[in-house]
Amino acid sequence: MPKVTVDMNLCEYHGQCVFVAPEEFWFDDEDELRYTTEVPENARARVEKAAKACPQLAIKVE
Ligand code: SF4
Repeated sequence: MPKVTVDMNLCEYHGQCVFVAPEEFWFDDEDELRYTTEVPENARARVEKAAKACPQLAIKVE
């Protein structure tokens, strides 16, 4: 299963990832970014698209 990590030192909370892949990335009640660390294979394309959309290049998909 693809593993997702976000470098929170780089993240500037623009939210592009949330827009592109709302099932895997979301903001919690305190506006902190949360994300799924292991996604099913059929979600790989979506999280890779989110990683490309991130202006900080903070998202890694392995
Ligand atoms: S797109 Fe990148 S910088 Fe923006 S919230 Fe998501 S991880 Fe953070």
